[in-house]
Amino acid sequence: MSSVSEIFGSLVFNEHVMKERLPAETYAALKRTIEEGRSLDRSIANVVANAMKDWAIEKGATHFTHWFQPMTGVTAEKHEGFLYPQKDGSVIMRFSGKELIRGEPDASSFPSGGLRATFEARGYTAWDATSFAFIKDRTLCIPTAFCSYGGEALDKKTPLLRSMELLNKQALRILRLFGDTQTIRVNTTVGPEQEYFLIDKKLYEKRRDLIYCGRTLFGARPPKGQELDDHYFGSLKDRVSDFMHDLDEELWKLGIFAKTEHNEVAPAQHELAPIFTTTNIATDHNQLTMEMMRKVAGRHGLVCLLHEKPFAGVNGSGKHNNWSISTDRGVNLLEPGDSPSENAQFLLFLAAVIKGVDEYQDLLRVSVASAGNDHRLGANEAPPAIVSMFVGDDLMEVLNAIETGSPSGHKDKVEMRIGVHTLPRFTRDTTDRNRTSPFAFTGNKFEFRMVGSSQSIADCNTMLNTIVAEELSQFADQLEGAEDFESALNELVRKTIIDHKRIIFNGNNYSDEWVAEAQERGLLNLKSTVEALPYLVKEKNIELFTKNKIFTETELRSRYEIMLEEYSKTINIEALTMVDMVKKDIIPACLKYQEFLVDTVLKKRQLSIGVSSAAEEDLIGKISSLTGCLYNKVSQLENSLLAAKEYEDSKSQAVFYRETIFASMQELRAVADELEGLVSKEYWPYPNYGELLFSVQ
Ligand code: ADP
Ligand code: MG
Repeated sequence: MSSVSEIFGSLVFNEHVMKERLPAETYAALKRTIEEGRSLDRSIANVVANAMKDWAIEKGATHFTHWFQPMTGVTAEKHEGFLYPQKDGSVIMRFSGKELIRGEPDASSFPSGGLRATFEARGYTAWDATSFAFIKDRTLCIPTAFCSYGGEALDKKTPLLRSMELLNKQALRILRLFGDTQTIRVNTTVGPEQEYFLIDKKLYEKRRDLIYCGRTLFGARPPKGQELDDHYFGSLKDRVSDFMHDLDEELWKLGIFAKTEHNEVAPAQHELAPIFTTTNIATDHNQLTMEMMRKVAGRHGLVCLLHEKPFAGVNGSGKHNNWSISTDRGVNLLEPGDSPSENAQFLLFLAAVIKGVDEYQDLLRVSVASAGNDHRLGANEAPPAIVSMFVGDDLMEVLNAIETGSPSGHKDKVEMRIGVHTLPRFTRDTTDRNRTSPFAFTGNKFEFRMVGSSQSIADCNTMLNTIVAEELSQFADQLEGAEDFESALNELVRKTIIDHKRIIFNGNNYSDEWVAEAQERGLLNLKSTVEALPYLVKEKNIELFTKNKIFTETELRSRYEIMLEEYSKTINIEALTMVDMVKKDIIPACLKYQEFLVDTVLKKRQLSIGVSSAAEEDLIGKISSLTGCLYNKVSQLENSLLAAKEYEDSKSQAVFYRETIFASMQELRAVADELEGLVSKEYWPYPNYGELLFSVQ
């Protein structure tokens, strides 16, 4: 095996390759364009495209594609060959600047939430030059944004890039107020930790629920679950460790640095943490990571489940979105500094996050809403559906002191004014003890833990960037006109803490007491996707997005439609799969087993040896009545599914799917799971939970 440094980034057209392959002036021009976020000049694009093509062909590529992130949440590609036939019968390999800058995939096959009705059906993709091109499956992939011809965003990346620009602009205003004249660019950074399950492929193939829905729709609890906590950080099974090494290598080639990989709490569950990078690149990389996980698992006879809740009764999977803000000079703006002035600046950024999270709890909740994630959030599992923030005891003490303007507890007995005092250093040890918070300050970043394992991180980061930028812009407006900067700053931070401290909660987020207290504090508790989604188009949120040019109202409403439809479609597929499994497999299995039992009873009677058939008869009675119940429930579900089709309004339809269909699905499952406990394993049509969870050695 070659060394990591040889492998790392070997399939990426990164700065190193650009420098090596592009004429000096082209490289300089491209770099300028990237740094300033301008569009690329055609003549430069031609030179870059040609160099990219030569490089890609040397690496074995034969095709190219614009690689983009439509609203489906997965990535899309449309491959085209480099091959170009000539009149004389020969071919040349060609890739033009035009093809690099812009592509024209057929937009009509992607969800647009009604945008297509009002605007041109065709869409185009445009190169996001800040994210490097790479090779995957012998194809040169060019990371792009996807828009309609009217300029409306049809993807998840365009709003993300817009939000990054916004945050850059507003954060720079704040930095200038603190006398920073050097910083040219402020970016948000993200390191998403990814949880997933690995199960044996042969078992997976026997379960249509896993194949169609990515999660088990049936399954009785195994005798052993996660209660022993023996899996967490336990030693890796050989097959898993082989998979991880293989995955690492594939990711390294793509320039993705996977740092730690370990077992999670649940059996068969694992986690991968990459080293953080600029948000749009982190988003691209996370999409690629998920794709590679699936692909590499296949090579090892495994299946990677990225669903938020593959198994009932076992912890689900999430994504921890570690988020921070940093300057082009490498300064992390969410890290308390050494000097009083640095700390004043830190506290102002912190105040912006506190105010933003409080005022836009709903948007953070919406950004992680999906049918899959409903099984985690608001379902007695980590984290709860209530958005709150953890800052830790040390920082809380500082905030309290600022609020009251009184002497801070363990520090100097003088009046606390920010900008005068040095904050204590926050080590991860003292700040990250709380593992239950949905939004935790971890010393120099925030960890947003509500994101579902299969979701794109584009949405939550678009929200985070936007809400924090909005607060920064309000702060800048106030401070720029202030006569006495320091007292204005002090007052601003103090007022923000007073007005928004209700969002801070340092206790146990899983407790029932917190649910009650949060309600008293007036915090939202949006338990399901259908409850959360309508908040996306609340007046205050439309105003936030349109004012800051992240979404037009039309774009926002179209996204709302798409999310509602996606929710209903997901539940519909799950319900249909359940109906299919019950009718084709489970009921027939129950009948067969009953037949076997009846035969046994009859044979015993024929022998008339006077032995008891009490056990068989008891089982027959139970199974027969449960099977009857199952039959009724499945018919009921089928009727409800027909009724669901009648809804014309997507919101009421989604509510019906949640309240009626989903509820019937749970009832149906309960009966089937009870039957699984009674029917002989030989007759049960599916591998059970124990086999699925403990199959990989
Ligand atoms: P650990 O959880 O193992 O102690 P860290 O706290 O360093 O490790 O990081 C956890 C995750 O947070 C990693 O994916 C890491 O890349 C990411 N991370 C660390 N610093 C930042 C930052 N400034 N911005 C965004 N993500 C970060
Ligand atoms: Mg984590």
